[in-house]
Amino acid sequence: MEKLSKPRVVFDEKENGPAHTWFDALARFSGLREALQRLDECVLPNWDMKAECTHINAIRPVNPVTNGCQECLARGDDWVHLRMCMTCGHVGCCDSSKNKHATNHFLHTKHPIIRSAEPGEPWGWCYVDELQLEFEDAA
Ligand SMILES: [Zn+2]
Ligand SMILES: [Zn+2]
Ligand SMILES: [Zn+2]
Repeated sequence: MEKLSKPRVVFDEKENGPAHTWFDALARFSGLREALQRLDECVLPNWDMKAECTHINAIRPVNPVTNGCQECLARGDDWVHLRMCMTCGHVGCCDSSKNKHATNHFLHTKHPIIRSAEPGEPWGWCYVDELQLEFEDAA
């Protein structure tokens, strides 16, 4: 497995509050020991994140499972844009698509975070917090 680079967390303290809230959230959800390990060992892929999202431990170093919306491919439908689940790699269609399979995936699995699977779009979304996230694409 390829080595993942160190998470880079960018804070705008005016917008996001104090930087330590990110670490607090990680510690609360993953345990302090794991939070410290993640800071040191860089388990997570590169990402920038707003401090308010408390679902960062749902992010895995996933790859897209399918080369298009999984459900639309299965039934021969089309889509507008693609979103990838950051927990399991499910690829689903966006809310501008008629089937909204990405949101549907969240509703069924509770996997909280997606990112755009469109080339050059490094943004993500936490469904639970309704927060936009910034991912830094791995080099
Ligand atoms: Zn969240
Ligand atoms: Zn779809
Ligand atoms: Zn998922």
